[in-house]
Amino acid sequence: MLSAVARGYWGWFHPCARLSVRMSSTGIDGKGVLANRVAVVTGSTSGIGFAIARRLARDGAHMVISSRKQQNVDWAMAKLQGEGLSVAGIVCHVGKAEDREQLVAKALEHCGGVDFLVCSAGVNPLVGSTLGTSEQIWDKILSVNVKSPALLLSQLLPYMENRRDAVILVSSIAAYNPVVALGVYNVSKTALLGLTRTLALELAPKDIRVNCVVPGIIKTDFSKVFYGNEPFWKNFKEHHQLQRIGESEDCAGIVSFLCSPDASYINGENIAVAGYSTRL
Ligand code: NAP
Repeated sequence: MLSAVARGYWGWFHPCARLSVRMSSTGIDGKGVLANRVAVVTGSTSGIGFAIARRLARDGAHMVISSRKQQNVDWAMAKLQGEGLSVAGIVCHVGKAEDREQLVAKALEHCGGVDFLVCSAGVNPLVGSTLGTSEQIWDKILSVNVKSPALLLSQLLPYMENRRDAVILVSSIAAYNPVVALGVYNVSKTALLGLTRTLALELAPKDIRVNCVVPGIIKTDFSKVFYGNEPFWKNFKEHHQLQRIGESEDCAGIVSFLCSPDASYINGENIAVAGYSTRL
């Protein structure tokens, strides 16, 4: 059904039609490094995802933003459109197949195709040990954090091929340095590094690059539990090189770069945005 709809849209939306969508907005850099490209970002109505969406739009891309709550989608769309950026939005809980299908349909309807997929949506519904985690919570974390990027990509793939496209996953520094009490979340973010490598291998013949951004502690609602307490700060200052926690915008430029032609030979890589290095 969806593919039939999409095939219909392909007939309507050729590159010129897509360009005209962009020209109607005023805040877009028509000569930007991502001009005339289309990006879908999940979990993009606040925090890191929102900063990424804003940056890609400022660099010329037409954005399709999404998250679970309509009011958040409305807020983010109003904010970005108020800056003259080219943005469409839709509710999408990434763990729900029908929501993912509607997100794909929205991108095709509004933009005629997709060049970049950024998977920022992620959850951690439990603060606790791995072995104390119920099967239900295991399923929720793995479904949203690990399975959904792969499933969404498989739904988008027919409309991404042969466009020198890029996929960016959002892991966490907890993948390298597990945080006590983040149990299954640590595991899910490590799995994303493996997913990056595997998808990079599988999609290379289609000229689709897959890379991963690995944030450290970034100041968002998600991380309040950490940066809000004193023992955290003491430990942070001892172990981090840069003596500040990150801002969402710190994660945005690298995503724009990874989507851009300047990154055309970077594939299967993961890059920490953490104020310190995880590697030798
Ligand atoms: P945030 O500020 O809480 O924002 C999360 C965004 O995702 C919101 O727009 C939220 O909107 C949406 N969202 C949540 N669950 C979703 C779902 N199931 N489906 C679709 N959208 C969903 O979080 P953040 O700090 O920016 O985190 C973004 C990503 O970065 C996550 O994958 C997280 O694991 C990763 N990360 C964050 C940090 C950090 O320190 N902040 C560090 C390392 C990695 P709705 O409520 O409307 O759905």
